[in-house]
Amino acid sequence: MALADFPRHPLTFGPSPVHPLERLSAHLGGARIWAKREDCNSGLAFGGNKTRKLEYLVPDALAIGATHLVSIGGIQSNHTRQVAAVAAKVGLKARLVQECWVDWPDAVNDRVGNILLSRIMGAHVELVDSTFGIGFKESWERALEGVRAGGGVPYPIPAGASDHRLGGLGFVRWADEVAQQEAELGIFFDTIVVCSVTGSTQAGMIAGFAGQDRERRVLGIDASAKIDETRDQVERIARATAKLVDLGRELRPDEITVLEGWAGDRYGIPVASTLDAIRLSGSLEGMIIDPVYEGKSMAALIDLVRSGEIGRDSNVLYAHLGGQPALNAYSALFRA
Ligand SMILES: *Cc1c(COP(=O)(O)O)cnc(C)c1O
Repeated sequence: MALADFPRHPLTFGPSPVHPLERLSAHLGGARIWAKREDCNSGLAFGGNKTRKLEYLVPDALAIGATHLVSIGGIQSNHTRQVAAVAAKVGLKARLVQECWVDWPDAVNDRVGNILLSRIMGAHVELVDSTFGIGFKESWERALEGVRAGGGVPYPIPAGASDHRLGGLGFVRWADEVAQQEAELGIFFDTIVVCSVTGSTQAGMIAGFAGQDRERRVLGIDASAKIDETRDQVERIARATAKLVDLGRELRPDEITVLEGWAGDRYGIPVASTLDAIRLSGSLEGMIIDPVYEGKSMAALIDLVRSGEIGRDSNVLYAHLGGQPALNAYSALFRA
């Protein structure tokens, strides 16, 4: 099946905006840097990359007669907030398992930002005490069972909507959208920089760009501090997604690049380069990024441009995947 044959439930405004980051480019003195903005791709609770993925999961959920979208994430998960918004929009219930993935001492961590928004949107939010991991969990099984026990039909959505047959399709479509925008703008982005954790964002991009006739680099930046797991996950989902959309060939190893060096020691904990990147994109561009994901991928972009690894003549597209609501749980970092 080609991408166009998969049913899609529109949840986004249309193509997400693409624009140059002129002052950041001048400041770094290297490549021409642009951003494509998934943080403003939708009117549903601030949008983000998961909203795009969910466009391909919703028709599946409706087809099986689901009553509940069930999903899992950290306490400040952007993903579960987007599941809550999508459930509200399509008239389903959301049941969310929020685990303590991040040992973050902010006093209002479980009350502000993403989890606050999910509660406002009527999601059933359950806080669970367990540690970071992207696999299936006992708390997860209990949530599914809970829905069934109440006479409902659960539609399970794994962490980040990644480990799901359809999870990569949203960003295959993103790759097509980029090609279309390039044609309109008269530009070619030879390098894409994207944050990777559960993997289907980058994986979908890889599968999508592999079907185009021009070569470009998709540089995934690990933000999980578990590089081997991230790489495996990106590769596995990219290959499965390429098959799903009938790419007609295997992906080459050089098409799958996930870089480490900017995650710090732990998922969810920013390091100095993360905070520098947040301040720099805020002060030069008025572009807000978060301390869990985009602050880390932007730190990588800054270093790669400064070191010349991304060349001076390069046109770089920074995939801004959203995530700003989590900033509210990190206020202590920016008091001075
Ligand atoms: C989920 C998320 C990512 C990572 O995307 P994956 O598909 O999980 O690799 C990056 N940035 C933000 C803001 C996210 O919410």
